[in-house]
Amino acid sequence: MQRCINSACGATYGLRERIYVCPRCGETLEIDCGLTGRTDARALRDEWASRPTLRTHSGDPRETSGVWRYLELLPFEPDAPYVTLFEGHTPLFDAPRSAEYCGLGALRLKHQGYNPTGSFKDTGMAAAMTQAVISGAHTAVCASTGNTAASLAAYAAHAGLQAAILLPRGQVSSSKLAQSLDYGALVLEIDGNFDACMRLVQEIGDDPSIYVANSINPFRIEGQKTVAFEIMEQCNWRVPDHLVVPGGNMGNSTALGKGFQELVDLGLIDHLPKLNVMQAEGAAPLARLFTNLHLKNAADIQRIPEKLEPVANPQTLATAIKIGAPLSWKKSLRAVLRSGGRIISVSEQEIADAKATIGRDSIGCEPDSATTVAGIKKLVAAGHIGHDHEVIAVLTGHALKDPDYMIRYHEGTLSFSSGAKHGSGQPLAGAFRNSPRRVEATKAAILSSLERQR
Ligand SMILES: [Zn+2]
Repeated sequence: MQRCINSACGATYGLRERIYVCPRCGETLEIDCGLTGRTDARALRDEWASRPTLRTHSGDPRETSGVWRYLELLPFEPDAPYVTLFEGHTPLFDAPRSAEYCGLGALRLKHQGYNPTGSFKDTGMAAAMTQAVISGAHTAVCASTGNTAASLAAYAAHAGLQAAILLPRGQVSSSKLAQSLDYGALVLEIDGNFDACMRLVQEIGDDPSIYVANSINPFRIEGQKTVAFEIMEQCNWRVPDHLVVPGGNMGNSTALGKGFQELVDLGLIDHLPKLNVMQAEGAAPLARLFTNLHLKNAADIQRIPEKLEPVANPQTLATAIKIGAPLSWKKSLRAVLRSGGRIISVSEQEIADAKATIGRDSIGCEPDSATTVAGIKKLVAAGHIGHDHEVIAVLTGHALKDPDYMIRYHEGTLSFSSGAKHGSGQPLAGAFRNSPRRVEATKAAILSSLERQR
């Protein structure tokens, strides 16, 4: 069933009712998969272990998809019309240079940019588009900073649905726009920011032909929670001390929090990893709220504020998290507090240098993902993460999602305007700058150039 997260309301609704927020009180919904009382969890774990993890062509979505691999813990019937593009099964990398940069003995990076459209959105979209097909909708709609658009466009096309995408004009990386166009989606550019697009989508969601697949969509959270299961399988069920994720609309941290909590409820792990969320300074409404919470004990979690003060004009070069009024903030905050983690913000310079460090680890990511390494460095320096702690950071997008950012960083032309003043932005120094060099077209010149760089 679907349940309102407002404990004072507590309304419940059928799984197949096409609602996106609680019709009674307007609060967001959460799906209860009826896992409590399940006593076969250990058998399930063995069952998953017996399923191939390669992207095989067996035709069985439990084998080809890293989402449907865990269908026993998802709100779908065994004969559902599963939509899949071989999502999930993403790598967990050792990142020694990033670890050293952060002051850690070791650091692992779970790279959700290895999904079919290059971002973490795909796991949730597999579930949401399956639900859209079941609901009989003709058109799937979302507002997006780019990654959701690309993912919705691809999954809707695969499911045989029309895709319509509302984007803030001029504020989306060209790579992401290109993807949406290529997958055949109807792209509607709006004069306004992401938060304005989101409000419009909520308004048109009343139409019965339309299925809204925004991050508020509880089925997307269900697909995305499987990342927690996949991480635990990859860790051989040993719980890391800390999990670190970027925070924009907060769907990712909400989903991971739910996934880990379900594993605890099922008895597959005995405690939660500390869930830490990183925001960019210019788009950090939840980090600001967290700083002012002053929670003394776990019981205070019930007293989190009713309202989040939004950032009216969010600013960051990490466009994927340029969100001033995150919709899933309450579910995310609850998950962070329950786990004993933190929500902090990092500067544009810290993001840029952390991103280059992840690149030097041979991994690469889009700028928002680098808030994780930047934030871990700060939490280690502050003593919140120990040097010997086991830490896993979730990278949300592929490096090629935003190539302009990388070129400008390495050329030394990256700059950031906080929006407070007019004129050119503040330059961001490329501490790990690596710009191309012009070399004479001779063997001697090339060898001498190599020699100088050794
Ligand atoms: Zn309600």
